[in-house]
Amino acid sequence: MTAGRIGIMAAMPPELQAVLDLMPDEHRETLAGRHFWPGRLAGNDVVAVVSGIGKVAAATTATLLIERYGVQALLFTGVAGGLGDGVRVGDVVAANQLMQHDLDVSPLFPRHEVPGYGLSRFTADPTWQGRLSQAARTTLNHRVQHLGQKAVNDFGLAHARVHEGLIISGDRFVATSAESDALRRELPDALAVEMEGAAVAQVCLDCGVPFAAVRTISDRADDSAHVDFNRFVSEVASRYSAAMVLACLQARQPAH
Ligand code: SAH
Repeated sequence: MTAGRIGIMAAMPPELQAVLDLMPDEHRETLAGRHFWPGRLAGNDVVAVVSGIGKVAAATTATLLIERYGVQALLFTGVAGGLGDGVRVGDVVAANQLMQHDLDVSPLFPRHEVPGYGLSRFTADPTWQGRLSQAARTTLNHRVQHLGQKAVNDFGLAHARVHEGLIISGDRFVATSAESDALRRELPDALAVEMEGAAVAQVCLDCGVPFAAVRTISDRADDSAHVDFNRFVSEVASRYSAAMVLACLQARQPAH
């Protein structure tokens, strides 16, 4: 018997495109204004979907994947801003924990605590996190094969690394040093900032579905806006996503 269907989510269409290119039999279904792509990938039954940007869009999409498509694990892939020391453009961060940096119900609850949950950090599923981070290391080891030498040179990716740690999410594109400095002071162990992960983690906890997330660093969440965000997403991040998701699913053992 093989284990159940896997959901693969990204926020923006170019982040998912290279994954869809690997799914020979995918077909598009539209639900709640989103495109879902059921199909097969590396022998696994999967549903890929673009959630849209932000926590609410991501939470709605995760709920639909679980309730309508019956996914039994959910993987998120995409780009994020680097916050931690040494987390550079072109590096990859696999989340072991995720939290909402903009959630504040103080003084009723401690800063960042999710009311009713008694926690502020959601934990990624260790098995899927392990597979994703191993897949990320394999992908970066073969970066030239995946991206071509020109992209590796153009984007300065020769020393790109994989990190594992805290990813923080909020409904804000962090694009000034003042904001990223404030986040670093508040959450010194945060490695990367994005706009969806912790929301998906919360839905997955509610529904008892294992969740893991991996993000390619597209910018440093500061004033030095990336030279070409869109080109980076399609030429680097999307290809990394496809290679990482593929390697991760190939590593999955059938359930007994
Ligand atoms: N420039 C894009 C907008 C990107 S919004 C456009 O024109 O469409 C940012 C998206 O990338 C979100 O899905 C978020 O998860 C991720 N992201 C990348 N860098 C980020 C940062 N510095 N702060 C917050 N989110 C970031």
